[in-house]
Amino acid sequence: MRECGKCGGQAVMRLEHARTDFCGKCFSKNFEEKVAKANHDFKLVRRGDVVAVGVSGGKDSAAMLFVLKKLADKIGEITLKPVLVDEGIDGYRNKAIICAEKVCERLQMPLEKISYSEALGVSMDEAMKKRELAEKIHRSCSYCGVFRKYCLNKVAKQAGASKLAIGHNADDVTQTFLMNLLRGEVERNEQFAAYTGSSQRVLFVPRVRPLIYCTELECAYYCVLNEIPFHRGGCPYASESFRGEVKDFLNSVEEKHPGTKKSLLNSFLSLKEKLGETWDNTETGESKAIIPTAHPACSQCGEYRSKESEGELCRACELAGELKNVSR
Ligand code: SF4
Ligand code: ZN
Repeated sequence: MRECGKCGGQAVMRLEHARTDFCGKCFSKNFEEKVAKANHDFKLVRRGDVVAVGVSGGKDSAAMLFVLKKLADKIGEITLKPVLVDEGIDGYRNKAIICAEKVCERLQMPLEKISYSEALGVSMDEAMKKRELAEKIHRSCSYCGVFRKYCLNKVAKQAGASKLAIGHNADDVTQTFLMNLLRGEVERNEQFAAYTGSSQRVLFVPRVRPLIYCTELECAYYCVLNEIPFHRGGCPYASESFRGEVKDFLNSVEEKHPGTKKSLLNSFLSLKEKLGETWDNTETGESKAIIPTAHPACSQCGEYRSKESEGELCRACELAGELKNVSR
């Protein structure tokens, strides 16, 4: 029998990257401490915040909501508002929504929803059919990533949120870091951090990533051990995703060389620290991890327009417009 490295009780799992065996109780405590550490290190949520918590029905966001609830109760004067984006992917998201509803019901929190159809006039399933006739064809996740960010920001604003918590775990962060390097888009890492936002971007709800120190596997363990329901199915469009390829690559390296992903995460964080992005901004509540430039609103929808948008429209309106111009 293996012993828990923390309390000496019976271990139920081993985290290879930490070279430690854990019993269920010590594992959950360790997971919650990691979230609290991220909150402390990057000044993510504070007293007085209204936090929109993005939930999807998956394990990461379910674990995040549970731990944030505990953390919010401990800190006090923090309101959590779960929000969900329905992409309109039949057989996938509709099943995940049921899990998200169960989680919110258990925590007695109302779940606010927004769909691509209502916000942008096109569901993901429709977008995938229409893109074949559009002038430019993009990968499925290129549409979906832009639409999701747009909807999350919109629903967070509707909820009156001062922060938007995203369930990106350590695996997601290392994948994004590596993807940006592989694509030659290193400047994207400037705007990517545990906390991104600025009071100069009035239309943009600052984003926080409380799971930055927790791996995907740990999120799954946490849900299983705490009997938190989550959806296990995969997205039917995921096979097109570049992220999927990077994820497989990192997992295979991790298997041969445990600790590689952790090293990559540490490289990302120390690089940002070297660039002077220390996130220690308690006075202003701002993150230095972004270029604090205000961009004009989208001329069509009035929402936040990032500096990547070339014209007067936000990227979501551009992409949705390309699809709407298709005649079928
Ligand atoms: Fe959207 Fe791609 Fe994720 Fe599917 S895999 S939900 S298309 S981002
Ligand atoms: Zn727009």
